[in-house]
Amino acid sequence: MRSLRFISAEALVSHPQLAQENLDHIAYNLYPLVFKASYLLEQAEVTRAVLSHWPLEEFRLAALLGPNTDHPEDLRDRACKTCLEACMQGLADHVLQRGSHRLRVADFTGIQDVQVQQCPCGRALGRWGRTKVLARICCQLQAQPCTARHPIEVFTDLFVTEGNFDMVVQALKPTGPAPLQVCCPSLRADSLSPGQLLQVLGLAGPSKLRKLEVVHNVRLHVGHVQQLLAQVGFPQLTSLTLPTKAFDAPPTCAPTPEGEDPLLNSIAWELSQMKKLTELSVAFSTLTGKIQTLLRLLSQAAQTLRVLTLEECNITDNHVGMMILGLSPCSQLQEFKFLGNPLSASALQRLFAALCELPRLRHIEFPVPKDCYPEGTAYPQDEMSVSKFDQQKYDMIAEDLRAVLLRASREDIQASTPLFGSFDPDIHETSNELGTFLLQAFKTALENFSRALEEME
Ligand SMILES: [Zn+2]
Repeated sequence: MRSLRFISAEALVSHPQLAQENLDHIAYNLYPLVFKASYLLEQAEVTRAVLSHWPLEEFRLAALLGPNTDHPEDLRDRACKTCLEACMQGLADHVLQRGSHRLRVADFTGIQDVQVQQCPCGRALGRWGRTKVLARICCQLQAQPCTARHPIEVFTDLFVTEGNFDMVVQALKPTGPAPLQVCCPSLRADSLSPGQLLQVLGLAGPSKLRKLEVVHNVRLHVGHVQQLLAQVGFPQLTSLTLPTKAFDAPPTCAPTPEGEDPLLNSIAWELSQMKKLTELSVAFSTLTGKIQTLLRLLSQAAQTLRVLTLEECNITDNHVGMMILGLSPCSQLQEFKFLGNPLSASALQRLFAALCELPRLRHIEFPVPKDCYPEGTAYPQDEMSVSKFDQQKYDMIAEDLRAVLLRASREDIQASTPLFGSFDPDIHETSNELGTFLLQAFKTALENFSRALEEME
């Protein structure tokens, strides 16, 4: 139930002109209430004015939007474009106001990006968009003479691509004193060159980074990953996602015998030094011939690892024995996802029996068994061939796998095969840029092809 105080705040913000004129007469401890009411009713002018007058030392968005005794509703899943832009503009106004201000920390982290916006405008400003707006404001303020005695620390989850790279770099690396100092607990990178990634990571402060996602169109190979981990260093990292082919050898590297890959060994050692790492996602990597190193890597991270994703890693029936050895010390593991690997029903049975031994495991995502596809199906599969399998056979095998869990009294483990994944707000937001990137790659390939044809003539 809403408190009387909150209902009064709603009444006030419903008259934007009146609210703005009277902000100076409102007690400091009521500002959080007025802020939440203005966000709820999407009164952007009031939201902006509240921020520009903010009288407290800290502004933490997620805490302000969360449930409280005055208003039990949780608004943290409202990444409302109108309101978030108003917040950031309000922060800029705050900086530009004359006189001393108390605000020292503005924290924009903790907003959930969901598929459907519940706010009146229905438009979302996702992580990429928030990064861009904030970076633009930082750059604009850098162009003004800086009168602030102390910079305001602005916490945000950065999402950097080619499309906002220059702006983000400028925001992170002001040439002179700047009123806003961007702090970044998590960083997602897509459509960047390895050099750009290293540059932005260096500026974002890797020593404080807790979550790093390098995805899709960042063409890393194992040499880059080794450089990243060994030279940059991430002592606070809890979650690491690496992109397609991140464990592939550099193009100029001579092949090495199984288990004797110095780069992978170095990566395994660096990962073992990350005492806080709980999530590791290595999707779409061809790990053939490197499974042993991967397992060494696992055994070193085993004490802390909670989430492990090994999707489309070409793990075959021959690797299952070693996988079981590698997973058995992972006593903290809660989620294990290994979609897209060419495993048979009997290999899955063996794997499931071993997974029952992991006391904290609650969630398994397993691939459609190889037996359900026509013989000779190639991996990795495209979207078309993924869906062309024998459903009846799959249902039977899945039932058998659940029976393995039941016999071990592990009803607490959920096992499923989500074929096309769940809603990914970050991909949704940058799909245009991703598309352009892929088209460009396609165009280059065609050009190379026609050049080769010309040369043949
Ligand atoms: Zn909205």
